[in-house]
Amino acid sequence: MADKENRNETNMPGRYYVDDSCIDCDMCRESASDFFRRDDDIGYSIVYRQPETADELLMAEAALEGCPTQSIGNDGA
Ligand code: SF4
Repeated sequence: MADKENRNETNMPGRYYVDDSCIDCDMCRESASDFFRRDDDIGYSIVYRQPETADELLMAEAALEGCPTQSIGNDGA
């Protein structure tokens, strides 16, 4: 489970974030590229835009559930 204490500060403020356990596998960036991108300075994914609509929330939640290391968190859950 993602730990908000280890949330990188380059994540966009809001409910979704990636913590420092990300292994840079690319899955979230492939499946939900509107919200996740690679931060090349730290070498793993961050949330660069928070989902807003119901469809966007579903996409972000699917990425959270698919993350192999449970590195994506949802503070609003
Ligand atoms: S799916 Fe998880 S481990 Fe893979 S890049 Fe995204 S946050 Fe990192």
